[in-house]
Amino acid sequence: MPSDITMDKLVALCKSRGFIFPGSDIYGGMANSWDYGPLGVELKNNVKQAWWKMFVQSRLDMVGIDAALVMNPKVWEASGHVATFTDPLVECKQCHERYRADQIDLAAPCQKCGNKGTFTEPASFNLMLKTFIGPKEDATAVAYFRPETAQAMFVDFPLVLQSSRKRVPFGIAQIGKAFRNEITPGNFIFRTREFEQMEIEYFVHPSDWEVQFEAWHKRMYEWMAFCGLKKDQVHDLEVPAEERAHYSKRTVDIEYDFPFGRKELYGIAYRTDFDLSNHAKATGKEITYTDPITNEKYVPHVIEPTFGVDRTVLAVLVSAYSEEQATTADGETDTRIVLRFPKALAPIKIAILPLSKKDELSDLARPLAERLAKKWRVDYDETQSIGKRYRRQDEIGTPYCITVDFESLEDKAVTVRDRDTMQQERIKIDALEEYLAAKFES
Ligand code: ATP
Repeated sequence: MPSDITMDKLVALCKSRGFIFPGSDIYGGMANSWDYGPLGVELKNNVKQAWWKMFVQSRLDMVGIDAALVMNPKVWEASGHVATFTDPLVECKQCHERYRADQIDLAAPCQKCGNKGTFTEPASFNLMLKTFIGPKEDATAVAYFRPETAQAMFVDFPLVLQSSRKRVPFGIAQIGKAFRNEITPGNFIFRTREFEQMEIEYFVHPSDWEVQFEAWHKRMYEWMAFCGLKKDQVHDLEVPAEERAHYSKRTVDIEYDFPFGRKELYGIAYRTDFDLSNHAKATGKEITYTDPITNEKYVPHVIEPTFGVDRTVLAVLVSAYSEEQATTADGETDTRIVLRFPKALAPIKIAILPLSKKDELSDLARPLAERLAKKWRVDYDETQSIGKRYRRQDEIGTPYCITVDFESLEDKAVTVRDRDTMQQERIKIDALEEYLAAKFES
């Protein structure tokens, strides 16, 4: 586990710096709901964009979709979610606290009231979030907010196949919100009732699943390295048959050492032809693929790498966080908190810091900031001492701080400070864009 970080510190930093706020804060909050603030939304968008680039745009065998959140309820019957997407729920008869039976020791006392032997028998609790579509709130109007993005990729498979003219093996990807009425949400953004997923359904010939499983498993590790996650904090858990989801013949959970323990970050599952075959049965439509070379007609099998967006953001924050002793610009020693984000994920790429608020400096610094903002996300900050401003940028993980000083008026140059090394370099303003472009590419 990373030694410097505790959840208390991280949650406080996220709130004070504008990464993640408690939801509905001025109304006293809403349990386990979180809002991404100005920096959080940049970080989260960077995660999603980088993922899309790595797994969709840069691959000839991948396409994407963006489907409706509320699908025909028959989808969830065919997929097995209505019958089996459940967690075992127990309630303490004394204090009425509810728990997931698979997450606590049922022989131990209730964590809330301390009484022993007061749990009810576990009952299946369906996690799908229900709603009603249209003005009538009766059984015919019941619909569900999707509990995963995956099903739309199966339901749209025939239309994607026809319109994209892809050949197996190929995959469909989607990024979007999913909803689960979790019994025990918690641990900040780790488990919430509303969250985002980045999922891939990769369609393969049945004989090819093992090779493709390994290949996608490897790619997931490449993604985690890109995100800056340390290899020794990521672990595979081969899920035993009795614990696997109803559709899966092999599942590996990829776990991460969060400050609250080792927990699931991502998963990769071999879903066989379960979903396509069930949708074919339920709709009476043929959902098959014909190999154009061999003419073999079959139902493709599926490898599913699944990634939680919010858990990625959390793991990226935890991995990036570090505390170190440093000397300030004013010559004092203090603790420097740095978020060492990979540059591609950093919410702010460059901070422009004029040494004083005087007009002559603003006249040079403002247009410079506006010019750079056309290419990168830029922050402009002219208040407080330069030392404090550097610290603030370190705390939000800005890779480069650019100081505009009175000498800049003479030598047409600025000082560029590197977040990680704290080294400073004097760069001519004319050469700045090229210099920064090279830095961001490296
Ligand atoms: P868990 O065992 O933690 O409940 P799961 O096995 O049910 O997770 P999956 O159904 O495999 O999760 O969902 C795919 C991914 O979606 C997970 O690996 C995780 O990153 C993310 N995810 C699932 N549930 C939540 C949630 N309630 N809040 C945030 N992210 C979630």
